[in-house]
Amino acid sequence: MAPEFGLCPLCGQRIVATIDHYLPQSRFPALNLTPANLIPACSDCNKRKLASVPTRAEDQTLHPYFDDLGNERWLIADIQPSTPPTVSFHIRAAGAWDEVLTARVRKHFSVMGLAELYVAQAASELADMSYGLEILGAAAGPDGIRQHLEIQFQSCQARDSNSWRTALHEGLRDSDWFCGEGYRLIRTHYPENV
Ligand SMILES: [Zn+2]
Repeated sequence: MAPEFGLCPLCGQRIVATIDHYLPQSRFPALNLTPANLIPACSDCNKRKLASVPTRAEDQTLHPYFDDLGNERWLIADIQPSTPPTVSFHIRAAGAWDEVLTARVRKHFSVMGLAELYVAQAASELADMSYGLEILGAAAGPDGIRQHLEIQFQSCQARDSNSWRTALHEGLRDSDWFCGEGYRLIRTHYPENV
């Protein structure tokens, strides 16, 4: 059950630092050493999960190895026209999910604080992208920007259909405002870099 790149499977962002008991030791001592109940996790996710005690099926966070969310796109990035551009994330229930799974995905995002975490990561990613997008936009215009974002989207999607990067590039690609002018507004709050 070694996690890919040593990253926590609960958030996909931070380094594994501990072993989380999916069903807590205090209530399920018989599962203390059952491998399927032991999940490598970062300390932040582990603490957040310990603080949340589910009492209903809908409140149970996701199991990274047993819960299959499928490959349909369900993590959506919304791009707000602002200076700098603002990104937020929401969950769009996939067709194959039942009500309990939909509630559990939302619960998982809430308990682990993933929407806030992804917003911070996306803002940092945009700052990294901005210089390259300005050069590309000057040479190839909005169509060039959109084609570039489409390739980035496909590349991210090929690895993970619902990573925040996949969602971010899809949202940017689909935003006429971002491809036309928004990409030039990312760096305006860093005047020393102009
Ligand atoms: Zn984590």
